[in-house]
Amino acid sequence: MERTCECGGKTFLPHPALIKVIDQRYCSNPTCQRARKSRWQKAKLAGDSDYREAQAKAQKGWCSKNQDYWKQYRQRNPEYAERNRQKQRDRNRRRRMIAKMDVLKTENAIIPGRYRLVPVCNGMIAKMDELIVDIGVISKGFSGWPQISP
Ligand SMILES: [Zn+2]
Repeated sequence: MERTCECGGKTFLPHPALIKVIDQRYCSNPTCQRARKSRWQKAKLAGDSDYREAQAKAQKGWCSKNQDYWKQYRQRNPEYAERNRQKQRDRNRRRRMIAKMDVLKTENAIIPGRYRLVPVCNGMIAKMDELIVDIGVISKGFSGWPQISP
């Protein structure tokens, strides 16, 4: 009986030798098999702390034994390195833009409350004429001056 592959969505016939051994949910297409493996590992990493620890250890060990691997990989694949640099530049730009927007948001925000209003005359602060005022925000964004009844 045919089944539908969980990755590619195509129908396939489960391998006859495996039918009673495993619940085959992916076809033999290499892309689907890679997806199956990576989904399995993701779930395993999320649910099995021993496995997670062992994987981290193995990776650390591999990295220290192959310290030049990525350096050499980048040298052998300049287009890969360039693509990564571009992606990083994009990420940095996006981060800067978000930070800028956050600053603008706080800069333009008036916090409602009680303020000291001190007149400035010819650059001099006239403290004696200071007023204590309450400031409240009527609307965000300017949509015409509010009607003030006398
Ligand atoms: Zn498939």
